[in-house]
Amino acid sequence: MHNLLWLKSAGCGGDSISLLNLDQPDLYTAFKMLDIKVVWFPSLSFESDKDVHEILNKIINGEEKLDFLMVEGAVCDEDENKTNYVTFCGHPMKHWIIELAKRASFTIAVGTCASFGGIMTTGSDNIKWMGLQYLMKKHGGILGVDYSSSSGFPVINIAGCPAHPDWIIETLNFITKGKLTVDNLDKYQRPDLFYSKLAHHACPRNEYYEFKASAEEYGQQGCLFENLGCKATQCESDCNERLWLGRTGSCTRGGFPCISCTSPVFPDGFLPFFETQKIEDIPTTLPLDVPKAWYVGISGMAKLACPKRLAVNAVSFKKIDVENEKEE
Ligand code: SF4
Ligand code: SF4
Repeated sequence: MHNLLWLKSAGCGGDSISLLNLDQPDLYTAFKMLDIKVVWFPSLSFESDKDVHEILNKIINGEEKLDFLMVEGAVCDEDENKTNYVTFCGHPMKHWIIELAKRASFTIAVGTCASFGGIMTTGSDNIKWMGLQYLMKKHGGILGVDYSSSSGFPVINIAGCPAHPDWIIETLNFITKGKLTVDNLDKYQRPDLFYSKLAHHACPRNEYYEFKASAEEYGQQGCLFENLGCKATQCESDCNERLWLGRTGSCTRGGFPCISCTSPVFPDGFLPFFETQKIEDIPTTLPLDVPKAWYVGISGMAKLACPKRLAVNAVSFKKIDVENEKEE
């Protein structure tokens, strides 16, 4: 039996909601299959403050084991701020995370806020928010560079705004089966199983992308990269292969640009979300795996070679059968 404790720090709660949407199998079945006992989970548990306090202290005192410490939301570094913005059971959240992380076999940051600071790092309120072991790309965070859990792992970051429910449950699955090693984590400590691809891969607009046949307005069928801000060619995730919400969709399948929510520098590093910034017609946010000189050469040739079918449909709201000159 593996004990799991979930803490909710500063964030919208979207990662809990995402996990509750797990559907293949549902969450209760998944926990049962993985032999996971939920010690406490804010969206599922009924215990009062006093009871939770007791549970946390039992873990800290070594009276109860803790296999999985899961944290959602950014953490306030109250030493630096001389004040605290998230208290829980009478203490700053930072205190609980530091103490519980000393006992955890695996400490897992769920979502981009807990991983890297995320949304909480934006704005100008001068409050020092951070993730468990990172502040954006800077290693450290609340637990510090040298932290590792009792199993020898650093914080495992399941980034995403929110994280896909599969990314969370599959990570637990691989750990319980002994199939996740430290070498399976990428440079930002994300399991490479989910973050070694680009969100761009398997987008239905890939053919438009290849020929640089681009939409000019939302609702049109072309690629969203050149004009409408899609960052999926820079974003490490498998969203368009795995799909969301009962395996039916993704951001780009819904006509919305990927805003690279799994990145350590999300959101500020990807603003503006809905337009593509360019210098002399070349997007400043080029694909991760294509050098600039190549992009310039290839995109010019691709446009010249673009079939009429794609050129017409890229800027159309409905699919047009170009040969027969009618809507399909
Ligand atoms: S819309 Fe985005 S994800 Fe889809 S093909 Fe274009 S760049 Fe790739
Ligand atoms: S497609 Fe991009 S913005 Fe959308 S959920 Fe995936 S990583 Fe996040």
